[in-house]
Amino acid sequence: MSITEADVAVIGAGPVGLFAVFALGQVGLNAVVVDALSEAGGQCAALFPEKPIYDIPSRPDITGAALVEALLTQARPYAPDFRLGRRAVSISDMDGAFEIALSDGSWLRVKAVVIATGGGAFGPSRPPLAGLDAFEGQSVFYSVPVPARFTGKHVTIAGGGDSAADWAVHLAEIAASVTVVHRRPTFRAADATVAAMARLVEEGKIRVVAPGTLAGLEGEGTTLHAVRIDRPGSELLRVPADALLCFYGFAKDVSALSAWEVGAHREGIPVDPRTYATQRTGIFAIGDIAHYPGKLKLILTGFAEAAAAAHAARQHILPGRNFHFEHSTSKGVPSKP
Ligand SMILES: Cc1cc2nc3c(=O)[nH]c(=O)nc-3n(C[C@H](O)[C@H](O)[C@H](O)COP(=O)(O)OP(=O)(O)OC[C@H]3O[C@@H](n4cnc5c(N)ncnc54)[C@H](O)[C@@H]3O)c2cc1C
Repeated sequence: MSITEADVAVIGAGPVGLFAVFALGQVGLNAVVVDALSEAGGQCAALFPEKPIYDIPSRPDITGAALVEALLTQARPYAPDFRLGRRAVSISDMDGAFEIALSDGSWLRVKAVVIATGGGAFGPSRPPLAGLDAFEGQSVFYSVPVPARFTGKHVTIAGGGDSAADWAVHLAEIAASVTVVHRRPTFRAADATVAAMARLVEEGKIRVVAPGTLAGLEGEGTTLHAVRIDRPGSELLRVPADALLCFYGFAKDVSALSAWEVGAHREGIPVDPRTYATQRTGIFAIGDIAHYPGKLKLILTGFAEAAAAAHAARQHILPGRNFHFEHSTSKGVPSKP
């Protein structure tokens, strides 16, 4: 059984969880950070990476992706241990510490927990197809970490947003064939990408089936052979396929919260707005998931909550130990992680 030890577990690597790493570092605590997604950044990275945010203090405008990059840079001196692509499942008390079970079967052992799970654990929206699980990770994918994997392959791409259109254009250069399936005739992607896709359709490098919906998969074991596509008013289409890339966006899963015994309800986890302590001693909640009267679900609110929770976590871990408050200007940051 693999167990990682740290002072604090931060559950959720959204903007608020990332700033919590810095805030914890400033009070002398190290952090292990868990996120269901394979990349840090929460909603900013998953839902609006290219959109400008206008209400981050001192940044008149900054995109979601740039904010995440800046927060990662700010946290780096404290060498956070990232555990991405896995969910925190349970939190058990263990001799005055906490043990957190992750969805990959590994464990964390920590002295305090900061829950920064925002709107819930993100995961890809999956098409409702029989036998899908057998192909996932081998022939069916929800992201493209290694594009070269699709060189010379017959690829079907499902979806009508930026990711679907971008990857269709990109993979058209290296794949044996690219078929794009979308339930509507129009795409919600950047104009330039839609235009590039239209050019590649004319050149015969991309085939678009729209409107169309995925109806079934054919294959053996984990190897896909073909995708069946439903077209309104036409017969079922069978497209030979080595790989299916699905870009249907993200779904949020909040089911884990109820098992954590932190009193979570429809509006979030109730906290004491002085310390962000939950009803379970040693477990704090910050960011969109934390609830108290007058709560504003804004990134800047979450940043302030992270700083206060870090101080409270230090107090919890080192009770009675005097802590001399210093500004970051005098405290500085470690020069090397
Ligand atoms: C389109 C859009 C525009 C926005 N514009 C603004 C704006 O201009 N200004 C502003 O202040 N706010 C804006 N927001 C809101 C802002 O994005 C949120 O307030 C912010 O992302 C909350 O940060 P967070 O870190 O609390 O949670 P999130 O960003 O939601 O991150 C939570 C992370 O926790 C992970 N997680 C959840 N459960 C688990 C689990 N069990 N195990 C592991 N990981 C888990 C999730 O995968 C996720 O990555 C906008 C939101 C949207 C959707």
